[in-house]
Amino acid sequence: MTSGTPHTRAHRAGVESDPLGSVMPPLHLSANYAFRGLGEPGPYDYARASNPTRDVLAEAMTTLEGGAGAVITGSGLGAISTIAHTLVGPDDTVVIPHDAYGGTWRLFDQLSRRGHLRLVTCDLTDLDATAACFDAEPPQLVFAETPSNPLLRITDLRALSDLAHRHGATVVADNTFCSPVFQRPLEHGCDLVVHSTTKYVNGHSDVLGGAVVAKDVATAEDLAFMANTLGHTAGSFDAWMTMRGLRTLRPRMRQHESNALAVVEALTGHPAVEQVWHPSLPDHPGHEIARRQQEGFGAMVSFDLGTREAAGACVEKLQFVSLAESLGGTESLIAHPVSMTHGAMTPEAQAAAGLTPGLLRMSVGLEDADDLVADLTAGLDRATRV
Ligand SMILES: *Cc1c(COP(=O)(O)O)cnc(C)c1O
Repeated sequence: MTSGTPHTRAHRAGVESDPLGSVMPPLHLSANYAFRGLGEPGPYDYARASNPTRDVLAEAMTTLEGGAGAVITGSGLGAISTIAHTLVGPDDTVVIPHDAYGGTWRLFDQLSRRGHLRLVTCDLTDLDATAACFDAEPPQLVFAETPSNPLLRITDLRALSDLAHRHGATVVADNTFCSPVFQRPLEHGCDLVVHSTTKYVNGHSDVLGGAVVAKDVATAEDLAFMANTLGHTAGSFDAWMTMRGLRTLRPRMRQHESNALAVVEALTGHPAVEQVWHPSLPDHPGHEIARRQQEGFGAMVSFDLGTREAAGACVEKLQFVSLAESLGGTESLIAHPVSMTHGAMTPEAQAAAGLTPGLLRMSVGLEDADDLVADLTAGLDRATRV
């Protein structure tokens, strides 16, 4: 299908593809496929290498990101791990953000400790610091994450790609927080996009999954070969569930964002709140870049209540917001980064990353915005009384 917008084409991925005429693509659970004769495989042979259910999701992700091909993995980290094992070796330098997602940081840290690559961390939102970092040790792979977690720092993907390409590096963007609805990194010069589809793409907090989308066919094929070699590819049922979630991605993202803007407004007007981080705010340091490179500001919001006690009082009796890690589901979640998502960092590392004891991070869900605002306001009122 070549006509229609990328959204329409992704939305229709696999529809009416079944020879039996089912409108929605069937779920193929078979682990293996019969050969027609010796040396005559059909289109599929063994489901780890490829299977029709995963192909539908790969097609939709490729279309949404505007790439040449995609690999669907069993988790977001499976996608990042596939990239690391395909594109770099022991003599190659990888640059990741100093405030990378904890699992990403641990993956690259362990691979470097075990001699698989050389690791450098750098503040990729600071282009002068990044240029100095690239000059000191030219990288083969640069891994950006924008907006970042939990302070929603914005990296200028076009400027970073131009800088990295001058050193011949491959640029990867983790697009988990925006989804392809709000940001398409390949349009800003990046070479690869990675997703934890566990988050917004599936969107219902009931599947773990990941995806890599490549700008060119040769890299997509190399990544697919290595994902199969490493055993990182996703199971059919997970891919089918994720595709079911993806069909409503755009309306969900729009409602997530509209609810988030209501939450941001309630937070900025409340005396218990010392600071709010959301790229929609004109005083957010990345606001101008976000306006340029994103089509929406997203639904992750962080705010500081000053002390751990105030943060505790705010979250303890919330009715419509669960105290939990992860993000991007239909249900609202709140996390305390210092003790939860970023709890493995040392207090010094937390302080360097700007993570304070009063900081809370909210993944704004799809409940009625009025209910979320009332619930959160009651929590903020409790925080003022501690
Ligand atoms: C969750 C997450 C990951 C890791 O994905 P998993 O599916 O949990 O393996 C990577 N990057 C970001 C930004 C994430 O939020």
